[in-house]
Amino acid sequence: QWIYLNDRLVKKEEAVVSVFDHGFLYGDGVFEGIRAYSGNIFKLDEHLDRLYDSAQSIMMTIPYTKEEMSSIIVDTIRQNELDSAYIRVVVSRGPGNLGLDPASCSRPNVIIIAEALALFPEELYQRGLRMGSVATRRNRPDVLSPQVKSLNYLNNILVKLEANQAGVDEALMLNDEGYVTEGSADNIFIVKNGRIITPPVYLGALEGITRNAIIDLADELGYSVAETPFTRHDVYTADEVFLTGTAVEVIAVIDVDGRKIADGRPGHITGHLLSEFRRVTHTDGVK
Ligand code: PLP
Repeated sequence: QWIYLNDRLVKKEEAVVSVFDHGFLYGDGVFEGIRAYSGNIFKLDEHLDRLYDSAQSIMMTIPYTKEEMSSIIVDTIRQNELDSAYIRVVVSRGPGNLGLDPASCSRPNVIIIAEALALFPEELYQRGLRMGSVATRRNRPDVLSPQVKSLNYLNNILVKLEANQAGVDEALMLNDEGYVTEGSADNIFIVKNGRIITPPVYLGALEGITRNAIIDLADELGYSVAETPFTRHDVYTADEVFLTGTAVEVIAVIDVDGRKIADGRPGHITGHLLSEFRRVTHTDGVK
């Protein structure tokens, strides 16, 4: 496996960074998870825009233009002879002294890892996920914006641990006011009386690229889609619940906090969106 590390492709074993990297010491950095389907990189421009916006927000300069970054990503996939891949782009603040001031860090580390896709088992899509709400809340957008996809994912990790402890597949994260925001690393949608609803991102959710693609797709397919705040009650009483994300694509949720969603089986609209999403991901994108 070849890893892109600061201007060159190196063998996995040689892909090492300093223990003084503030990404390691403080979680100071940004990242993206991207997917390639049969040689097409899905929504690469959107992922790069989000990466550069995240970096801008935390006052970090990525030492490449978006065009350069784009060709480096393509090179990394090619070098690894991958067709379908999961791509992780990491830009950390880089090595500095032990103080947390980024001023001591002279150059960010840029790392690109492209791996064969570890697909979620098809059985999980057939069965659907169990979700449980957790005590850990989404950080307030005015404190640290959920739009910054930073290396500091402790909040999301705590949420995942709570879900594991509760014996469910995924966590339902609320904001400070109790409105539903998202899962640990995926966006949530509900369907009620044929309407598809997802929380507005200002409540405290990452503006997922899959989320936006699904909103557009649902719209094109003639469904009514709205970004409206909702609570757990609306989730419990929904006709369908599903999650979206780069890794998971579109996946049904069949149980939330022990409440069976409708008849406890993945819904029709969810299934329709998943099959249409799979169709477009294999035709759209950067070759
Ligand atoms: N929410 C969080 C917190 C995430 O980390 C992710 C993963 O990227 C998502 C939602 C889903 O976003 P996307 O569809 O861009 O992968």
